[in-house]
Amino acid sequence: MLKKLIPDEFYKSVYDIPYEELYKSGKRLIMADMDNTLISYKETLPSEKLKELKKRIEDIGFEIIIVSNSRKKRVDNFSNAFGCKYQKFSTKPLKRGIKRAMRKVASKRYKKEECILIGDQLMTDVYGGKRCKLTVFLIDAIDKKTDIGPTRFNRKLEKFFLKRIKKKYPLLYKEKLAIYGGE
Ligand SMILES: [Mg+2]
Repeated sequence: MLKKLIPDEFYKSVYDIPYEELYKSGKRLIMADMDNTLISYKETLPSEKLKELKKRIEDIGFEIIIVSNSRKKRVDNFSNAFGCKYQKFSTKPLKRGIKRAMRKVASKRYKKEECILIGDQLMTDVYGGKRCKLTVFLIDAIDKKTDIGPTRFNRKLEKFFLKRIKKKYPLLYKEKLAIYGGE
């Protein structure tokens, strides 16, 4: 299980990901977590900066969809304002929501090699994406202070697992997780 908690890369935010390079390497679908990946829990709508990023990503040729564990109306509202398809109540780290997003929500069926999952949580986004054998990017939460109940619990679990990963895979930890872990 531990290895499935290690992302392919860590980036500071969704703005720091090299989308052009990824497209050249064959990636086509971006599945983005919503809360604390695209917006903080305090926000409800995409900022101008985020809309510009979406346009840039789509101009490159990507399709972008939202894969959120939240069941709240805010997922519908945000996704509609952002102008993209979405899977809410996706139950990450279970595979079913992510698979449904790839197969049914996206405009066509993508191969797993073409998909990237981006999120701010080890226990849901990274673990879920890796269980589906996807390329997974971990980013720093926009505003951890706004995390809600279940996420706070996951952050505690994260700390425990970060320590275990550091001990068992020190090189991988250094390369992929040290900054996220606050080192
Ligand atoms: Mg999140």
